[in-house]
Order: sequence, then C-alpha cells, then structure tokens
Amino acid sequence: MRSSCPDSLDTGKKSLLVDTHNRPVEYARISVTSQCNLRCTYCMREEHEPHESSVPSLKKHEIKTIIDVLAGLGITKIRFTGGEPLLRSDIVELVEHAKNTEGIRKVTMTTNGLLLDRYLQRLTDAGLDALNFSIDSLESERYHAITRRNEFERVRANLSKILASKSIRVKVNVVMMRGINCEEMAEFVGLTREDPVTVRFMELQPFDDNQIWRTGKFFGADKIREMLHDRFPDIQQTEGSSTEFFGFRLPGYKGSIAVIPAFTRNFCSCCNRIRITSDGKVISCLYEKEGFNLLPLLRSNSDHEALADVFRSAVAHKPEDGKHAAGNSFRASMSEIGG
Ligand code: SAM
Ligand code: SF4
Repeated sequence: MRSSCPDSLDTGKKSLLVDTHNRPVEYARISVTSQCNLRCTYCMREEHEPHESSVPSLKKHEIKTIIDVLAGLGITKIRFTGGEPLLRSDIVELVEHAKNTEGIRKVTMTTNGLLLDRYLQRLTDAGLDALNFSIDSLESERYHAITRRNEFERVRANLSKILASKSIRVKVNVVMMRGINCEEMAEFVGLTREDPVTVRFMELQPFDDNQIWRTGKFFGADKIREMLHDRFPDIQQTEGSSTEFFGFRLPGYKGSIAVIPAFTRNFCSCCNRIRITSDGKVISCLYEKEGFNLLPLLRSNSDHEALADVFRSAVAHKPEDGKHAAGNSFRASMSEIGG
C-alpha cells in the first residue's frame, strides 16, 4: 500500500516555484556546514577535506536571507542538515528564524545526534517540528566501526533523551548494509514498541567517498522487506509516502517502520525539493553536481529579487529524471548536500 506524491504540505497556497515538468517546489534542504564530528565509512573518508578551508560556510545572516527569499518563493518546509548541523553554534537561532518566517510551516533537522544534549531544550523552545536522528547501530563496537569514532554512549543516551522528552517528532535513519548492521533489524524495530518513533531503513546510495558502495554491502529494499516479514510475521503494511515508500507497523507498538528504496526506486516524478550547499550553491537535484551560485550575490548585498532569480534558474534546470541523467557519475559525499 502506498500513495503517490503525498509529502507536500497542504497550505492551500499555490507554489510559486514550479519546474518545467510541472512539479511544485516547496521544500528546501539547507546544508549549514560540510564539517562533521563523525566519519561514517559510507559517507566520507577519514581525511575528509574541510571544505571551509577554501570556501567559507554560509554565514548566519546569509542563511537567514536565503530563508526569507525561499519563503517569498512559496517554500513551506525547511530542513537543516550538513555535514553535522549541530556543529554550528548558531543553529538554534537559524531554527528560530525559519520558524518565525511567514510562509514557513515546518522546520526540521537531520543530525547524527552527538551534540543533541547541548541543544535539545533550546531546539524545542525554538519550535523545531521534527528531527531525523541518524544511528546505524545500537551496539557500541559496531557503531565505532561504522562511524570511526568512539561516541556510541553519548549518541545512544541522546536518542533516549529525545524520545523520552516527547517534545519533537523523531525519525530514526538507519542505512542498512549487508554484513555490517542488517542483522540488527530487530533491535531497531524494538525502538518502536514504546515510543511513537518512525524507524526508517534506508538503502545505501553511491554518494560515498570511501566506495563502500562497491564492496557488496548494498542491501536493497526488497531484502529489507523480506527480512521484516521473516522476522516479524505479524507485521502490517501501511500506506507509504513518496519518500517513506513502504510503511509498516507491528500490532500494539506505538511507532512505525518505513523502508526507503533510495537507490532502487526513482523518486524523480514526485520531487518537490531543492538543496542549498554549505558554500551557497543551489542544487535542484540530488544527482546534480554543479549548482547555481548564490554566494557572489549574497556577498555583494544584492537584493532579494536577484537571489530569487537564481532559485528560479535552478528550478528551471531541474531535470525530469536526474538519476537517469547522472549515469554513473556521482558526487563524492552526501555531506556536501545533506542527504
Ligand atoms: N550528519 C547528519 C546525519 O548523519 O544525520 C546529517 C547529514 S547526513 C549526510 C544525512 C543522512 O544521509 C544521514 O541519515 C546519513 O546516514 C545519510 N547518508 C550519508 N551518506 C549516505 C550514503 N552513501 N547512502 C545512504 N545514506 C547516506
Ligand atoms: Fe557525518 Fe552524517 Fe556523513 Fe555520518 S552521514 S559522516 S554523521 S555527515
């Protein structure tokens, strides 16, 4: 059971950004830094180039300007991501700004959760609507092997803390990898027993500097679903969405499970997103590499209309089927665009 393209917020307002294939663009993901405090093997190399050394990250006032322009163009949902967004000490102020911007209806974040203890209360007070918490193992040693950092205890405690606080809607992102963490499925499903959390099992994607991608670790959505049915014979399938393509729930459990076929399915026909990289490029498609540069305009104090034109140009170039157009040429790491 699944529905088609249901993810957009029903605002009753016609989107002002519509691409040449008639898809309204209503959702912006802003990567606020390319830096990270973990080194997930499928995402970046140990010696991940600190991008900021050559091109500085967008400044706080520049991100605020981008949000204002996006809201004026009919964007209703903002996700802060990275790199690791909680590495920015001004992250709460950015969330607050987005929440207080007319037209923005939903503000979310994707984080590895390592620094969440530092920010949870302030993010809650700022009105963050939802948070995707990425954690690929619930075992300390395996977590260390995947992230190359010995931070499991703090991350796990932060996951418990946010679930217990019930202050923010939480989704748990798990990249499923053959021979690495897929045998932990039951433990992850267990998280949905007492808490209204969605555990999302995701396919590995080829934005992978380390090329784990090429080492037979890919574990497809069909295998994930097979395993779910095998381990949980009474699992019930629920309506999916354009992203959380397959939905499930276990009888008596408070949360839900989703399977995201990020690689094996093509989501292009439902795509309502644009991305802004931490160095100020507008990327209209996950598979696009170049983007349209906002930085020269931002740094020369150009007016909002000039910035809006860059977004319009980017959206006008949004490919109908970006995955197909990309062929076998992918960007090196998801950290540049925030997933
Ligand atoms: N650092 C934050 C985090 O990990 O949540 C935000 C940025 S991270 C790039 C966003 C999401 O992309 C995470 O859930 C991560 O697991 C996922 N991701 C990164 N590289 C990936 C890859 N090669 N395949 C699939 N998912 C990936
Ligand atoms: Fe950092 Fe997120 Fe990439 Fe892991 S997936 S290295 S936490 S940016």
